[in-house]
Amino acid sequence: MMTGTQYLASLQDGRTVFLDGARVHDVTTDAGLGQSARIVARGYDALHRPGPDARNPVFTIPRTAEELRARCELLTKHDVTLSLSAVAMALLTSSTELTHADPAAGERIQHWFDDCATRDVRFAELITDAKGDRMLAPSQQDDPDLYVRVVDRDSTGVVIRGAKFHTTAGPIVHELVVLPTKRMKPGEEQYAIACAVPADTPGVIQITSSHHARHGHPRDKPISAKLAIPDSMVVFDDVHVPYERVFLDGDVARSAVIAHSLGLWERLSGVAHMAHLGDQLAGMAQLVAEANGTAGISHIKDKIADIVIYATMTHACLEAALANSEVGADGMLLPSELYTNAGKLHAANHYAVMVRHLHDIAGGTIATAPSFADLANPETGAFVEKYLRGAKGVSADERLALFHAIRNMTADEWGGREAVSWLQSGGGLFAQRTVTRNHYDMAHAKATARALMEPIDD
Ligand SMILES: Cc1cc2nc3c(=O)[nH]c(=O)nc-3n(C[C@H](O)[C@H](O)[C@H](O)COP(=O)(O)OP(=O)(O)OC[C@H]3O[C@@H](n4cnc5c(N)ncnc54)[C@H](O)[C@@H]3O)c2cc1C
Repeated sequence: MMTGTQYLASLQDGRTVFLDGARVHDVTTDAGLGQSARIVARGYDALHRPGPDARNPVFTIPRTAEELRARCELLTKHDVTLSLSAVAMALLTSSTELTHADPAAGERIQHWFDDCATRDVRFAELITDAKGDRMLAPSQQDDPDLYVRVVDRDSTGVVIRGAKFHTTAGPIVHELVVLPTKRMKPGEEQYAIACAVPADTPGVIQITSSHHARHGHPRDKPISAKLAIPDSMVVFDDVHVPYERVFLDGDVARSAVIAHSLGLWERLSGVAHMAHLGDQLAGMAQLVAEANGTAGISHIKDKIADIVIYATMTHACLEAALANSEVGADGMLLPSELYTNAGKLHAANHYAVMVRHLHDIAGGTIATAPSFADLANPETGAFVEKYLRGAKGVSADERLALFHAIRNMTADEWGGREAVSWLQSGGGLFAQRTVTRNHYDMAHAKATARALMEPIDD
């Protein structure tokens, strides 16, 4: 297994990354991206075990309910790059079906997966295409490159062109896993491509963002400092991919199989994270109410109760998803589609309302609080200390910590990114609603409704 130091060294591979209009020659030393890389490096150190047989537990294929639960717990304790291993789970889950058209696909996936486990690498998921006009199919767009496609091939591999959007962690992982965003139609074979591309491959260009504060007092941004990972637009400017890294090539009938499977693993991780997030929102709401002296007011108690119920319902969906898991074709345990999707939809759908409650409870200082640097400044510190105090015994330092945490979590650049992410991640609300409906037992529901209409049998 890699240590954090080895992981950081592994990123110094000449990959092509741009940030804020300039080329980043070393992502580990950039002011923003370097902070993200160090978050991941700390995770590597926390998981590291010595010896040639040691293996990151995220590569364990869950075969029992305990292993599936352990996987969820592992993901919530670490940065998001570990959760992005969902893409490897999705490939494994899909491999049996992919071998119908390509008998060696399963072998290639397994070989790639084992190699990734041995090298202890991290993944990014590249599904979301540029898409152009959303109402037009890939082959109908005025530019054929608006969905990633194969533009050439030779005896050794394919050449791909196009761009994938919103690629979380792209600049600081090793494997960029490209999947078709949806089912392709006959005639769109060039778009039915799934493959794994090393991040330093020539022609791969990442235009990225960083959500880290690059100035200011470190206590002003306590959450992004621990969690913020960049998102990239990844351009494939005629990139050669050897066949051993190609998992789907022209099979339009099965082009959506991997994305569907990824949806399940992504949303399971989303439910697990959001259950945890619900607890954090509830805790933050209670703490700030106590600090402000408002914890006994009835409308504040009602709003905190709403957040508590939100967190509890999300936990309940996670439990139901695990309890109703099913064994897949290869013995891998798959969480329930119904409860996973309903849980993710519930959590994403109501997140904005819970944040509104938190903002309402906390008050406007979450937006306007002075910096910790102002508390430390001898010219202003005494004023901040005197006027930022809250309920009896609650210091300005304690309240500032709460206000900055809530701002960082929900109301600044990182908080805004998180709000959009919880809504859109795992394919967005529409996809989660559709999958939930498709897995709901409507025949049973209709039968129960009909039973209500039956006259009493005297
Ligand atoms: C912070 C963040 C991180 C992300 N990380 C990743 C990642 O790592 N990898 C990855 O691949 N993706 C990632 N995503 C992408 C995410 O899955 C997409 O944002 C989501 O699928 C929506 O796609 P879009 O952004 O292109 O919006 P659009 O497709 O433009 O959708 C916008 C709205 O239009 C609706 N819509 C669009 N087309 C249609 C249609 N034909 N019929 C009906 N409704 C339609 C959608 O349902 C939605 O309501 C991330 C997104 C965010 C915000």
